[in-house]
Formats: sequence, structure tokens, C-alpha cells
Amino acid sequence: MYPKLLIYLDRIRENAGAVVSRCKAKEISVAGVTKGICGHPSVAQVMLEAGCKWVADSRLKNIQLMREAGVKGPFMLLRIPMACEIDCAVDLASATLVSTVEAIELLERSCAAKRKSHGVILMIDVGDLREGILPCEVEGIGKSLKRCRWVTPLGVGTNVGCYGGVLPSPDNIGELVQVGHDLEGLLGCKLEFFSGGSTSSLKLLEKGELPEDVNQLRIGEAILLGRDVTHRQVISYLRQDTMMFEAQVIEVRSKPSAPKGELGADAFGNAPKWVDRGVRKRAIIAAGRQDVRPEGLFPTGKGISVIGASSDHLLLDVEEATFSVRWGDALSFYMDYGCMLAAATSQYVEKVIVQ
Ligand SMILES: *Cc1c(COP(=O)(O)O)cnc(C)c1O
Repeated sequence: MYPKLLIYLDRIRENAGAVVSRCKAKEISVAGVTKGICGHPSVAQVMLEAGCKWVADSRLKNIQLMREAGVKGPFMLLRIPMACEIDCAVDLASATLVSTVEAIELLERSCAAKRKSHGVILMIDVGDLREGILPCEVEGIGKSLKRCRWVTPLGVGTNVGCYGGVLPSPDNIGELVQVGHDLEGLLGCKLEFFSGGSTSSLKLLEKGELPEDVNQLRIGEAILLGRDVTHRQVISYLRQDTMMFEAQVIEVRSKPSAPKGELGADAFGNAPKWVDRGVRKRAIIAAGRQDVRPEGLFPTGKGISVIGASSDHLLLDVEEATFSVRWGDALSFYMDYGCMLAAATSQYVEKVIVQ
């Protein structure tokens, strides 16, 4: 049944292999990030087979799903934990990203009760303003880590290009390394990981500008889609046809391109703006904002463009399509990260593994 999200495992394997070998050449290990595809176990398995050392996800539900499907891990919880999920995090993951004394103390208490150790990576905010301690806070939180018996400080990490849109640079990743060395001094031991960011950091790696001590990257988008949204580009040495969205045409008609009647807001409260291009042939496909992010959907058919969408209908201009689009046809699309996330999350989209 349509709509479908086609997942091409061999192509994802190829991407994962290419990322792993480029990182390996610089002595960097890769944590494969599965949250974009809701922790699909087959994708996680492929990442591990291609040489990723960790499976990392932001959601414990995804980690649980992967474990139940027999994926071995080790698993890393990518989102700094909620108080209510600390116990589960200790049960399901081997390591968690942290940025607060509260989380560290709760983790320690939970680990002690279970007599189980758990790794933490301390997140450092170097300017993107999402999670992480400010570099000046390292002493305080270092003291809290030093008091732990069960919680093991594995390293430091940073996140850029996520909220503030700050790009990784030798300066800001250098700051991460510096804070990591400060923490080593405070703890009196070496840290295993200097986790220098995500897909957006690959560009620094390519240019040879990633600070030397960085030895781990957490990579999702590059492996899953061969894209780097923060630099607004596709990654030339990776494939973008790893996942495709397919949906079925439910109406084809020539209609005026500007609506007629008094204009209010659309179903999402936006006031749409129209350019009158005369009468054009348009197609409706049976998928909408509940399934995809229309702005991130790119038709594979030449001459087809996305005009807009409501919750359940996606409107396409097919006037200049190089083939005839007919009722009942299935059309296919490339996706960006946001669109993949929506399609993976929608229960109405069938996920189809293609070997
Ligand atoms: C999502 C996420 C990543 C992976 O980001 P990509 O851009 O998909 O490579 C890495 N680290 C953290 C903390 C994340 O939340």
C-alpha cells in the first residue's frame, strides 16, 4: 500500500562504509545515528556491519526496538536524558550524553542500585546554543563526575549546526578539545572520546581542518541520505538514493493556478501567496503533512514540482512533466532529512526494506 518509504539497505551500507573509511584514515571512529529513521533495526545492523562502533539514537523507544530486534549495539543515548528515563537509559544503553549535575547524580544512583556501570559523554556548548555546559562550568561538573563510582566519564562531545545553525570550525571544535583536556586534568585520567560533532563536521575532516584530538563523530544524515543540510549540499562521495518516498496519484486535472474566491488562511493558519501562471495541469497524490515535509520532497520525474500540501493531499504541477502523469500512477521522490524524519515517523507510511 502507498505511501511507501523505500529503504535501500545496500546503498546505506555503501554510505556507512565510505564514511567509516574516511574517518578511519584520520583515526576517528563513527557512531551511526539512527534517529532519522526511527531506529529501524535493519538500518542499525547495516551501520554496525559497515564498521560503526556505536549505534546512537535520541530516543530510548528506538533503542528498545533495536535491542528487541537483536541489534547488539553498543547503544548511546544521544539526547541528554529526562529525569523519568534515567533508569531505562541505564538498562538499555551503554552510554548517555549529559550536561547537568542532576542527570549525573541520578544516573549514579540508578547505576549503584543496579550495580552496573554506565558511560557518559559530557556535552560542551561551543556556540550553537542547544545542549551542553558552557566551557567555564567544567570545574563544577568535573567535581560531580569525580565523585561517581558507577558512572564512567567516557569523554566530551559537542553539537553544532543543530539549533543556532553555527557551523563547525577549527576554533569551536578546538574549544571542545581544550575543555576535554581541562576535564582530564580535573579527573586525573585520560578520556576515551573527543566526540567532535555530526555530519556537518565531515566537511572539516575533508579539508583536513578537524582538530587532531577529535576521535569520534556521530553521523546520521550523511549515512542515511548522503546529504549535509547545514552546508546545504549533497555529499559528493555518498549516495542520495538511499531512501525514496512513493505515493499514488488520486487526481489529475488542468486547473487555474490561482484560487478563486475570498482568501482566508490555509489549514495550517498560513496565508498562502499565489502566482497566477494561467491554467496548468496538476496532480494530487495521497500523502500530506501528516506523512512528509513537502518542502523537503524532490520529485524524481523531470518537469514535476511540488506546489503545496494539506494534511492529506500533496499538490504537484505536472504541466511540464516529460511523461504523462495518470490517475493511479505511483510517483517517487528524493527526501531531505526533515522529510525522511516525518515519513519514518508517520504510521501511515509503509516502510519497505529493499535489500
Ligand atoms: C542527531 C544528532 C547527531 C547526528 O546528526 P546528523 O546531522 O544526522 O549527522 C549527532 N549528535 C547528536 C547529539 C544528535 O542529536
